[in-house]
Amino acid sequence: MLLTVLGASGTYPRPGGACNGYLLQDDAVEVVLDLGNGCMSNLVRWADFTQLDGVIITHLHIDHFGDLYPLYYALRFHPQKPWGLPLYQPGGCLELLGRILSEDAKGYLPQVFRERDINEEEDLSIGKMTFRFYPITHMIDGYSVRVIGEGWSLAYSSDTMPSQNLVKAAEGVDLFICESTLPKEMEREASLGHMTSHQAAEIAKEARVKCLLLTHIWPTFDPQKIAREAAEVFDGHIEVAKEGMQINLEG
Ligand SMILES: [Zn+2]
Ligand SMILES: [Zn+2]
Repeated sequence: MLLTVLGASGTYPRPGGACNGYLLQDDAVEVVLDLGNGCMSNLVRWADFTQLDGVIITHLHIDHFGDLYPLYYALRFHPQKPWGLPLYQPGGCLELLGRILSEDAKGYLPQVFRERDINEEEDLSIGKMTFRFYPITHMIDGYSVRVIGEGWSLAYSSDTMPSQNLVKAAEGVDLFICESTLPKEMEREASLGHMTSHQAAEIAKEARVKCLLLTHIWPTFDPQKIAREAAEVFDGHIEVAKEGMQINLEG
């Protein structure tokens, strides 16, 4: 399975960057996990958007779903009408998207995207990948995601404060993509719904993950400093997510 980082910034992008998004390519199956603002230009570099097998949106914050708008227009006006792309989301995504569209554009939304709700009770299978969802502790509802493939595993925190749900999602995975929005001294600010470098690393340690990929770092902060802080707590492999970064997980 090849993972490509489409966007790694928290809340707003770094210069030339994008907000959160990941492309999972497993054999011929392609799934997008979050599609924040700025991700579409990276998606078209790495994949044919008409061939996607699904898009999963972890929660309805713009830095995780904003580029559903350009994806919608790209599909809607494509000459072959490759509509019906499965859109897995925590509930109400199309209704929210439609609020700023014209009546005409809104009408096509349910044709272009086939909306499906995700929840913690049901696993989702796409190709040989199984997705399991764990409620986040954040300003709004949503899910961390655990993905099991043939001989590999990963977890993605989405946006959340530290929780036992997140430890469960990440338990023993090969790759843990974890938000570390803030530096270690900003635990008070993180209590609004995010994590510091130390908190992300503590979850990685408790869940005994193999590799920690730090993401969603606010552009205000130096990612290398955040990584150094995480290494004070977690002694496994640590990387910082960056647009265009690719990681191969082999079975
Ligand atoms: Zn976010
Ligand atoms: Zn959020």
